[in-house]
Amino acid sequence: MLERANIVIVGGGVVGLAIAAELSKDNDGVFVFEKNKRLGQEASSHNSGVVHSGIHYPKNSLKAKMCVAGNKMIYDICTKGGIPFKKLGKLTVANEEGEFREIELLRRQGEENGVEGLEVLDAEGVREMEPAIRAEQALYSPSSGIIEPDYLLEYYESVTKINEGVIATDTEVKSIRKRDTGYELGVRNGESNFSLMVNTVINSAGLSADRIAQIAGMDTEALGYRLHLCKGDYFRIADRPPVKHLVYPVPEGPGLGIHLTPDLSGSVKMGPNAYYVSNIGYSVESSVEDFRKDVSRYLPSIINMRIKEDSSGVRPKLQGPGEGFRDFVIREEGDKGFPGFYNLIGIESPGLTASPAIASYVSTLYADSA
Ligand SMILES: Cc1cc2nc3c(=O)[nH]c(=O)nc-3n(C[C@H](O)[C@H](O)[C@H](O)COP(=O)(O)OP(=O)(O)OC[C@H]3O[C@@H](n4cnc5c(N)ncnc54)[C@H](O)[C@@H]3O)c2cc1C
Repeated sequence: MLERANIVIVGGGVVGLAIAAELSKDNDGVFVFEKNKRLGQEASSHNSGVVHSGIHYPKNSLKAKMCVAGNKMIYDICTKGGIPFKKLGKLTVANEEGEFREIELLRRQGEENGVEGLEVLDAEGVREMEPAIRAEQALYSPSSGIIEPDYLLEYYESVTKINEGVIATDTEVKSIRKRDTGYELGVRNGESNFSLMVNTVINSAGLSADRIAQIAGMDTEALGYRLHLCKGDYFRIADRPPVKHLVYPVPEGPGLGIHLTPDLSGSVKMGPNAYYVSNIGYSVESSVEDFRKDVSRYLPSIINMRIKEDSSGVRPKLQGPGEGFRDFVIREEGDKGFPGFYNLIGIESPGLTASPAIASYVSTLYADSA
């Protein structure tokens, strides 16, 4: 006889765990299945750890709404949970006419999205904040900051467990069949396999989220759910940290531009860049000299600094090469013939920042469709 579970969340990254923490407050039988031996080993541990403010996303997009709400929620969680964070503030810097226009657009967009405290600084204002940075103008966003993603992950994990949710690692969802009374999952656990009937499936599988929707029977091409892998490499400045704030160029291409991110110890990471790849892999492939050249446009002293290779991450992007903005897909798929099946697809940046807001959004969708 098949066992039965109430809610299965596929994927134990920061978003899947945030959803588990939220849903397990009011629901019994919440399970998280994570295919790797440890939680959060994919995008959730290969990112910049930036708590974004919400200036980068179009008004009314889920990315904008979830980021702005998530920003406040993350700082609350950190404060209440004793999780280290630094609200450093961020400068988006500009040196050319086209970039000045972009700064103005970001300011307006940010204000429309509800980002508080934005301020456009002139060259002197920038120099006062960051003497090493060369910029004619900058947009200052005081609500941007940094966290250590592992601590947030641990927080969501412990809340889920306190609420009696179950988290299973080394547990991979291999097949999903729609049945009259829910979904039948074929699951690998370690070396063995089992089947499970489930009322609700939440697909939070990050880089594999399109694949999970596909094995459930959805036509991911037709639905526009196909993911493109977009890699980003990081290098680290080995000399004395040249900045105290987050410093970003005006965004260009599929990423946010090669930026400077101090971590909680003050050491400064450069990156990530953004390039499309066909396979998931975490080795740094970019040239340090390309990074040095890009960053020298706003940090001239980078030319003489010692730089070492750091890490890389892979973004699950709905937007393919050369395509425009794509929003997060977060929806219950009842209207497509898959009631009780929730897809979270394309949860790239600002997914870490947005994680608590996404969790509360999914919880509202769940309550509305119950
Ligand atoms: C380079 C880079 C920089 C970033 N910087 C930032 C930043 O500064 N700020 C920010 O807010 N966001 C940032 N992000 C985005 C953020 O990291 C992600 O949005 C977030 O981690 C997504 O979490 P997730 O749980 O959806 O995905 P993941 O962490 O990828 O988790 C998905 C999980 O699903 C599991 N899984 C997949 N298939 C199965 C299966 N069949 N069965 C069971 N488990 C399965 C995977 O093993 C994985 O652990 C960045 C991302 C990248 C790549």
